[in-house]
Amino acid sequence: MTVSLSEAMQVAGGVFEEEFSYEPEEFCYAGVMYPFSEKKPVKLRITNLGDRKVKIELEGEVTLSLPCDRCLREVAVSIPFQTEREVDFSVSEEERAADLDETNFINGYDLDVDAFVCEEILLGFPMKVLCQEDCKGICKVCGANLNEGECGCDRTELDPRMSVIRDIFNNFKEV
Ligand SMILES: [Zn+2]
Ligand SMILES: [Zn+2]
Repeated sequence: MTVSLSEAMQVAGGVFEEEFSYEPEEFCYAGVMYPFSEKKPVKLRITNLGDRKVKIELEGEVTLSLPCDRCLREVAVSIPFQTEREVDFSVSEEERAADLDETNFINGYDLDVDAFVCEEILLGFPMKVLCQEDCKGICKVCGANLNEGECGCDRTELDPRMSVIRDIFNNFKEV
């Protein structure tokens, strides 16, 4: 979705307001695609501040289906966003690029709404995803989800240095 900023700039004190649906079905993070389970309409407001300056306000919320870091179960994670940027068109594009990061989604006077939303989702993307605070994870031996019950495997962590001693001990026993 592309919106022309020049329209709002042609009217003194002009305000352009619209609601969009964010079209992408998936979000790409670190090379992995994650599906959206819900997307609220994106509210966009462009205000002409005069002197070739505009204020862009963006608001919305998406819900991503992300795997739990420990057990890989799908977790619905909401990412609300609300942001505003002021863009000064009286300076050159190079100068704007130097002190603002909106060059990814503003090309000339065209605002790429999807790219703007995408950047906000990226900023709100969780560092850690857990299905529950005390998720027990999966068994390292058989892969069972330990939240659903104990699988009975021996998961005693072996110290690698200890395993050397154990090997020596086993060899000794064989003699
Ligand atoms: Zn989990
Ligand atoms: Zn197991």
